[in-house]
Order: sequence, then C-alpha cells, then structure tokens
Amino acid sequence: MDLLREFRRRELAEAIVRKIRSLPLKRPVRICHVCGTHEWTIVHYGLRSLLPENIELIAGPGCPVCITPALDIDQAAELALEGKTVAVFGDVSRSIGSRHSLESIRSEGGSVKVVYSILDAVRMAESDSSREVVFFAVGFETTAPATALHILRSPPSNFSILSSHRYVPSAVISLYSRGRMEMDGIIAPGHATTISGLKAYEPLAKEYGIPVVASGFEPVDVLMSVLMLVKQISEGRAEVLNQYSRSVTWEGNVRAMQTVARVFELTDAHWRGIGLIERSGFVLKDEFRDYDARQKYGLKGVNYADEMHPGCRCAEVMLGRVKPTQCPLYMKACKPNRPVGPCMVSVEGSCRIWATHRVLS
Ligand code: SF4
Repeated sequence: MDLLREFRRRELAEAIVRKIRSLPLKRPVRICHVCGTHEWTIVHYGLRSLLPENIELIAGPGCPVCITPALDIDQAAELALEGKTVAVFGDVSRSIGSRHSLESIRSEGGSVKVVYSILDAVRMAESDSSREVVFFAVGFETTAPATALHILRSPPSNFSILSSHRYVPSAVISLYSRGRMEMDGIIAPGHATTISGLKAYEPLAKEYGIPVVASGFEPVDVLMSVLMLVKQISEGRAEVLNQYSRSVTWEGNVRAMQTVARVFELTDAHWRGIGLIERSGFVLKDEFRDYDARQKYGLKGVNYADEMHPGCRCAEVMLGRVKPTQCPLYMKACKPNRPVGPCMVSVEGSCRIWATHRVLS
C-alpha cells in the first residue's frame, strides 16, 4: 500500500516533470504507448497537461476488444445462433460485429454466456456433455497463456475455442516499420511485457532506432518512463530499458510463453480497422484442431471491408493519427452507453476512457 502511495506521490511526479522539461530536445517528439491501462492513467491523472508542448503522448492499438475483427464477432454470433453456447468476456459481448453484438443476439435466441475466465467455459462444457461450448478467446499475450494451458489439459470434446488472440510486439514492430505508426519512442505495456519479456521489443531499438521503456501503471511509473525515453531521444540513443522492474524482465515469463508456443503458432492476422499484420495472431497448432471452432464447425468467410461503422475513426485513433475528440461521432452518436465503434465499448478503449473522463477537446 505504501509502495502504491509512493508511485502516486505528487512531489515525485513534479520532480520528474521538471527533469523532463530540463532535457534538450531539438524537435517535437511523439511517444506512443500500447495499453488501455496506460491511457487511463494518462487521462485520469492529467499527465498530458504536465508535459511540455513538444512532447506528445499518443495511444496505439493496445485495446484487445477494439482490435478484435468484426468477422470474428460475426462468427461467434453465427455459432450462438446455431445453438452452441458462446462463452465470452463481458466487454467483448458488447462489441458490435458487422451488424450485431453478441449481447444483442441473445434476444434472437443466441446462446451467449458472459464468463470471467476460460475455466468457467470449460466447467460449463464439463457439466453438460450435450452442450457444445465455444470460448471466444480474445486478448493479447497476457490472456493467451491461460487459453493454452486449458487446451493442454484436454478439455472435453464438446469444448472448443474461437481464437482472436493477438501478439503485441510483432504488431508494433510491423506497424512502425511499414510507416503506419509514427513515433520517436514507445512505452511497452507492463503486463504484456511481463509475459513476452523486454527482448521481444529489441528489434525496434536495434533495427529502427526507436527507444523502448517497459512501464508500470501508476502516474509516477508513466512519467518516469517518459523521462527515460526523452533522455534517450535527447542523447541520440535507442535502447530497451525497464522502468517496471517490479514485474518485467528481459526474458519475460518463459514458462508462460513456452506454454503458448506448445499450443499456438503465430500467423498473419487481421486487426480490426488496421488490416493484416505479419505474425501477430495466435492460431491453434494442427494437433489441437479438434479444439479449433473454425475447423470444427467449418466457419468460413473473410469480409473485412465494412467492419467499421461509417464515420467511425477508431482505426485512426488506434494508430495515434487522431484523437477521439476528432471523431465527429464522439459524444454525439457514440457514447459509452450507446457505443458505435469498438473504441467506445471496452474500458481499455481510448474513446471510452476519454468519454468517461469527459474530455471534450
Ligand atoms: S467516438 Fe465512437 S465512432 Fe468515433 S472513433 Fe471512437 S468509437 Fe469510433
């Protein structure tokens, strides 16, 4: 508790800001983070307003619900309407596919159950062998290990998963290297990097000269990470550093990543509104195909063309190109209680975070 208070201490935050302001920067810099929790901290504590004008904090594609393709939601809906029980996390159930959310298809007879973990879904399958249960597996490398672990435990044959798991480091490296995201430094997500390890971000520093700092989630953590990045930028260095040493290591959680690697392989995967990103999605290996809902039920169809509501600028928000307030639908047609785009659905979505903090400009 004392430690937590320390990481929220105003005097400490102000001292870090003074240090940031004292660093010589030859040009404006953009620092990107890829985590909804970081965005929440930045908005909640007003950290942007503390920084000098030449340092911009932008939010990248760090909200798992936001980037889950509409097609995957449609496929889950299709299964639920066919009579399978689709087990899903609560915020995923509210995200709208090409037409409907999983929550809304309940009124059409779709069987959708909100769960808190994959274990709930496995137990559902175990308790009723006549019921086909599909776990809609959404999330980054933070949630993929639990999914992999339960697949290795040989759940009953009436259980399967619809995997929309994604891998953050590949996505960030690819988006930057292809010029789709502009940044001068990146704050790596503390919890996801706890799993992947800092080494996963090494190519950004080594090959592209982008400094990386893994950060914790308290305001002092984030400001300290900004300082560590700005210092590198001002000195012309690009290294991978660790601000969140109370959780993150260079190697990461090796056992968790080994578990993931036993069950999944990385494949090119679609991120909603953003497109196909090389080696950024976890698909079940062939030996586990009996647990792959897409193969088990012959799900087909790839149509990503109209997966965003007309006017929704969520994809640009997730690439740091516009702010939520620059979307014409923000807080008009699109509000937390009536979301239009996926960034307004999840508590990790930038639009939702800005809206709940009543940020209007
Ligand atoms: S405010 Fe709504 S419609 Fe606009 S970008 Fe955000 S989620 Fe999309």
